[in-house]
Amino acid sequence: MRAVDIIAKKREGQALTREEINWFVEKYSQNDLPDYQAAAFLMAVCINGMEREETVALTLAMQASGQTLDLSDILPYAVDKHSSGGVGDKTTLVVLPLVASCGVPVAKMSGRGLGFSGGTLDKLESIAGFNVNLDDDEFRRIAREQGLVLAGQSHDLAPADGKFYALRDVTATVPSLPLIASSIMSKKLAAGANGIVLDVKVGHGAFMKTLNDARDLARIMVNIGVDAGRDMVALLSDMNQPLGNAVGNALEVAEGVETLKSGGPADFREHCLEVASHMLKLAGQGGKWTDLDQARAQLVDNLVNGSAYDQFRRMVAAQGGDTTMIDDVSKLPQAKITEVLTADKDGVVTAIPADVIGMQALYLGAGREKKSDSVDHAVGLNVHIKVGDAIKANDPLVTIHANDDSLIESCKIALKEAIEFGDIASPLPLFYNVITAS
Ligand code: URA
Repeated sequence: MRAVDIIAKKREGQALTREEINWFVEKYSQNDLPDYQAAAFLMAVCINGMEREETVALTLAMQASGQTLDLSDILPYAVDKHSSGGVGDKTTLVVLPLVASCGVPVAKMSGRGLGFSGGTLDKLESIAGFNVNLDDDEFRRIAREQGLVLAGQSHDLAPADGKFYALRDVTATVPSLPLIASSIMSKKLAAGANGIVLDVKVGHGAFMKTLNDARDLARIMVNIGVDAGRDMVALLSDMNQPLGNAVGNALEVAEGVETLKSGGPADFREHCLEVASHMLKLAGQGGKWTDLDQARAQLVDNLVNGSAYDQFRRMVAAQGGDTTMIDDVSKLPQAKITEVLTADKDGVVTAIPADVIGMQALYLGAGREKKSDSVDHAVGLNVHIKVGDAIKANDPLVTIHANDDSLIESCKIALKEAIEFGDIASPLPLFYNVITAS
């Protein structure tokens, strides 16, 4: 085979065979093809798209470029979740202990934040001593002993995706649905899950800005998973405004802990219950949870009776974290300065653009612009309002948590410009759609 023929075929809009895709991915990941041919291939895919079979073949070829985690010795049924990334999205912190507390063990590899969306590992590292760098033996031991482990990637999962992604980033070929779907799913499949709940965000603070794009992406990812023999469901959830109130690492841990202790913001609690219900339903456990209502009832019980928090606490202890910081969240890292932005006049909140909130948290130091940046765990924003809320003059809108007072004024200006008010607005939906296999 010749790379140039494969590129030409895709340029002409023809479907590639599995053999051609395998050959191309294998050669490129072994450094036997130059970047310029891979870039031309990516651009041809970006322009002409891929059929379902091609996208599946690309995903499986990228998965096969590295190790695949086999968790069958520790998990009877490996259930995983993936969020396409959002602002204030601390769902993993709550959903995993919730699911594990129902007797479905979870072993998850998570990532760090980049741009305005936060990463679970950064959040967990707000807890002093929490170790996300577990080797394979520790990862398995903690999963076996505690029924829950959350760590960084210790294996070389889908390395071809890393290589392609770096090239996509500099060749304007990131926004292609088959490329995004195969990139995400190659890593998920390599992480060894039997069942996957995808939380595909849509809106200002999401990768997918429109419902149509998010739906198409979700459908492609569900189809890839199904064709690869996994149980799949995708939820389309709103990311026009931040999820919950807290945006920033320690602030989000505190909110996650409050939620696990059966408090927390209503939208965030509801979001977690929905995602966790789908995970329990996939795990099924011999018909124990055949429908979502049964699953939800058990999850609510476990929030109220403390077993979900207890499950989280045991994981924190097993991974070396200081549990006194979650028993009393005021011991988590605190910013030196807090400043409250208040409303100038009465009105109804019509927009809280999640991307602006995320970027302002990033500028305060909560996120990274590039991979090598470090994060300040203490800083961020607490957004006290939701779209549809009626507020009065002087009501608190956002509390800014900062360690550098020179950043506060510009943050306030940006927030004031971004948050919109009017006479009437309906609350935003939490979810738009559930997508299952077609
Ligand atoms: N996240 C990924 O892992 N890959 C993409 O292509 C886009 C988002």
